[in-house]
Amino acid sequence: MTLETWLALAVGALLGAGAYALYQWREDRKATQANTLVPHRTREVLAALHSGAILVRRDRRAAFSNTPASALGVTRPDGALHPGVADLAEAAWAADAEREDDITVSRGVLGVDSVVHVRVTPLSDDLALAVANDDTERHAAELTRREFAVNVSHELKTPVGALSLLAETIEDSPDDSVMVRQFAKKIRKESRRLTKLIQEIIEISRLQGGESVVDHHLIDFAGVVEEVCEGADMHAEAKQVSLVAELRQRPWVMGDHDLLVMAVRNLVDNAISYSDDASQVTVSLDSSEGAAVLKVIDAGLGIAPEDQERIFERFYRVDAARSRSTGGTGLGLSIVKHVVLQHSGTVELWSKPGVGSTFTIRLTEYTEEP
Ligand code: ADP
Repeated sequence: MTLETWLALAVGALLGAGAYALYQWREDRKATQANTLVPHRTREVLAALHSGAILVRRDRRAAFSNTPASALGVTRPDGALHPGVADLAEAAWAADAEREDDITVSRGVLGVDSVVHVRVTPLSDDLALAVANDDTERHAAELTRREFAVNVSHELKTPVGALSLLAETIEDSPDDSVMVRQFAKKIRKESRRLTKLIQEIIEISRLQGGESVVDHHLIDFAGVVEEVCEGADMHAEAKQVSLVAELRQRPWVMGDHDLLVMAVRNLVDNAISYSDDASQVTVSLDSSEGAAVLKVIDAGLGIAPEDQERIFERFYRVDAARSRSTGGTGLGLSIVKHVVLQHSGTVELWSKPGVGSTFTIRLTEYTEEP
């Protein structure tokens, strides 16, 4: 390399270093200026808030942000802002008015995305205040509510459509008395299904409303089982299923009599419905390690492993046609799950296709009698 080349390289390197130092100095000065825009007391107040609070600068960075804002993922300690917050701040400045929106914050491959509600208020030409709160749960609840409404309308359509068709057929052939009687019977069956569906929709809405609906009393759990078995006698007889109650103990539980009857009835009804004719359904009650343990055992169809996780979901059925033909609504097990949850208990399922299923409910046992 010639001397001229060496000199040119050295001058170039010096100029580059100088330009970089100047750039760094300007950036530092900008940051210091922006920081000085936020008085110490304001920082103290914002730092003490439970909500995320960010003072947004015009250059889409944070002049200040508190710890909850970083925890929510809308800003980083180095001042970088979530683009959603920066966009909202620009919109607020443009309108010279408060702007709010829900922002989805990605939590990477391992985390679930969260929804953060952000409200931005312009404070001056240079600063805006963004207040952020986690809205993930409310969003999820809203989504569930909407899905439920869609499912309900879909489920109601089927029996209502069937009723309309049956009525039309009767209208077309009013003189065929055999057919009229046959279709009237079908109308009665569909109406019963519709009534059951509506009752269960009301029940499930009440149960999953978030608040406790349990009317707490000390209850003889064996009495609940006896009541359910007596009520299920006709259903069992119609299918020639022998329904056996094995009450090994009479544990007391704290809870709501009507809700517990409903939950146990749903399990027993299912066990009968999804059993082969002339098989046996056993309802056993025991007490073990401080818990009342109820088992509903059938030797019926069984449930495949992939369906076992889903059958407690609302309106989930393994075989929709079979469920419909047995008068099922797809809400029975969801009601069982929510009743048990409301009683702080557990419900478990063991099942094997072709062998049968056992549903087990465990509730805390109370030793003192009333
Ligand atoms: P349904 O009104 O359809 O019976 P459930 O919520 O009570 O609704 O049950 C959901 C689904 O789980 C049923 O459609 C059925 O496919 C399955 N299931 C429930 N209990 C049993 C059982 N004891 N044996 C086999 N399958 C069952």
